[in-house]
Amino acid sequence: MATRAGDQIIQYMIDADDRIVYVSDGWWFFAEENGAGPDCYPPQLMGRSLWNFIAGEETRQLYRILIAKTRSDKATVQIPIRCDSPDLRRQIMIDLKSVGDGHIEFVCRTLQVEARAPVDLLRSGPARSDRFIHICSFCKKIAVSAEEWIDTERAIERMALFSAAMLPRLSHRVCPACHNAALAER
Ligand SMILES: [Zn+2]
Repeated sequence: MATRAGDQIIQYMIDADDRIVYVSDGWWFFAEENGAGPDCYPPQLMGRSLWNFIAGEETRQLYRILIAKTRSDKATVQIPIRCDSPDLRRQIMIDLKSVGDGHIEFVCRTLQVEARAPVDLLRSGPARSDRFIHICSFCKKIAVSAEEWIDTERAIERMALFSAAMLPRLSHRVCPACHNAALAER
């Protein structure tokens, strides 16, 4: 498949208490494509805390910093993330915009999409072993050692993940590069 750009824009909004108060239609198509369950259907989201939907304490911590900055500066903060599904590499830019009364609008623009052979590691279905590997919530790199984070496909090869009887579990973290980039925004 050819690379597409700008084919999906998803918007959602939180109030001053970080509760979801608006979700655009695009959300559901996107969530469904990424294997989300019925609790991500827009009517089920209204009034629920944003923090129910962000996995990993480090990731939540970084979002808290960026959300606080957006509110205090009344500015737009940009967060580049990889939002992959098993068979797509997807580069997304999230703009956090202060829209008054502590409300923040999230505008997620797809910058680039590339098809790839499906990566079972990112599927929600298969049974998992008790082993954990760390995946960065922002760039989707995987930690192959304490210091080295590399792309999903390369990490799978390097760690010979498919030779194990069961896939490991994913623990959502923030890699040093994304951590530093987010703090530089502050
Ligand atoms: Zn990262």
